Amino acid sequence: MNKMLTCIGCPMGCQIEVELDDNGNFVSSKGWSCNIGKRYAQEEVTAPVRTVTALVEVEGRQEPLSVKTANPIPKGKIFDCLAELKKVKVHAPVAIGDVVVENLCDTGISLVATKNIL
Ligand code: SF4
Repeated sequence: MNKMLTCIGCPMGCQIEVELDDNGNFVSSKGWSCNIGKRYAQEEVTAPVRTVTALVEVEGRQEPLSVKTANPIPKGKIFDCLAELKKVKVHAPVAIGDVVVENLCDTGISLVATKNIL
């Protein structure tokens, strides 16, 4: 069984063909142009992950704080994490890289600020 993927590693969007065995396990891939795409293809069919970016509320401010996960999180946890972020309210000042939430939704990954708020 083969599966077609579009690599999200860069704007080139290489079309990658992944070969799976009868149990859906990764066998091989082709069509990628670099190792980022090669790794993406295997991860996407075994344990897909994504970096999540979002905005969270800042206490007493109109302007929200932009945040992202410090590392990619399992794709299946994205909606739970986004729901959790709606409850987050930070207090200024905040600096780029500050941890806003530790161990977001038990992923072991922190949510960090991506801008300064003085
Ligand atoms: S395989 Fe490499 S060149 Fe192609 S889209 Fe992915 S990251 Fe970009």
